[in-house]
Amino acid sequence: MSIPYGKQYIDEKDIQEVVATLKSNYLTTWPKVAEFEQKLCAYTWSKYAVAVGNGTQALHIAYQTIWLQAGDEIITTANTFVATSNAALFCWATPVFCDIELENYNIDANKIENLITAKTKAIVPVHFAGQPCEMTKIWDIAKKYWLQVIEDWAHALGAQYNWIKIGNTQSDMVTLSFHPVKPITTGEWGAVLTNNKEYYEKLLKLRSHGIERDEKWFNNMVYLWNNYRITDIQCALWCSQMDKLDYFLESRKNIVKKYNENLHNTKWIILPKEKDNTICGWHLYVVRFETEEIRDNVMSELKQKWYWVTLHYPPVYSHTYYREHGYKDTTLPNAELYYKTCLSLPIFVGLEDKDIDAVCFIIKDMAWRK
Ligand SMILES: *Cc1c(COP(=O)(O)O)cnc(C)c1O
Repeated sequence: MSIPYGKQYIDEKDIQEVVATLKSNYLTTWPKVAEFEQKLCAYTWSKYAVAVGNGTQALHIAYQTIWLQAGDEIITTANTFVATSNAALFCWATPVFCDIELENYNIDANKIENLITAKTKAIVPVHFAGQPCEMTKIWDIAKKYWLQVIEDWAHALGAQYNWIKIGNTQSDMVTLSFHPVKPITTGEWGAVLTNNKEYYEKLLKLRSHGIERDEKWFNNMVYLWNNYRITDIQCALWCSQMDKLDYFLESRKNIVKKYNENLHNTKWIILPKEKDNTICGWHLYVVRFETEEIRDNVMSELKQKWYWVTLHYPPVYSHTYYREHGYKDTTLPNAELYYKTCLSLPIFVGLEDKDIDAVCFIIKDMAWRK
């Protein structure tokens, strides 16, 4: 059986909670959703939470809530999943890609200011692999230029920046994903967090056809929007998974410790590091190699032994669609170098020690043979 780079962990309690909801009166957007909002806000110290169908929808309604539109630009990282910038394209806005730093592969906050134009509306940092971005610098830039900040937090539930959980933030909004490879899962699902009541009220309307309810519960549609609602069945699973988040984070940390101890003396490998004042959520364990050739050899060797290691992420602008739609000549040196040399090793709750040892053995064995 092959070992993937990431997957979900579901226990008996999760299953029972979902079954209980199936037997209840409500299957969608009702009592469990209130429990979700309260639980997520308590954990993140955010004021408001709105659940939606997935992380991409979360980004889309967050962008819509700040009226992102044609002619606007957002500045985001080249090293992210395509959804971060696609959701801006859905609003007819233009993503501008910023290069990454090579310390933790996040957006390089020192390179943002050069990209700001009269059209820039928002900065969208992504806490890649669960490593917090340099938010203090990003907030300072946003204040100076009157920009909005929306954090894509799909990898980072549970991570900390300056000893504050990401989410209790000065940013306008934060988006989350609960896809099976993410820190906790509900199958598909996402959420937007905010401390701004106006945004919260708009997000609630956008989630459900742009409809608001007046005091008498009459429906009144005020925005043209889609159905981005979620089900109570997923919500039951979410609440049960959330109870295990700290255990999940601890397990991931232990896996990282084992990899680090095992690999730290190996030549031509660069291990991930946490920056001062940050705690990583370890959504991914990404190592780098000195050259593309070494990386490719290690990758094929691991795949032959059924370890489905993979690469996160090709620079977004290098995808065919982006190349064909205005990004033909875009190239960012660190993002390119990173993508040529990176490798995501397996990390998930339940990954066995023998598999960590086997992965490390294969890597070290190749190092000695070189
Ligand atoms: C997974 C992911 C998303 C999208 O979330 P979905 O729930 O899959 O729609 C957005 N941004 C990043 C960085 C992601 O990893």
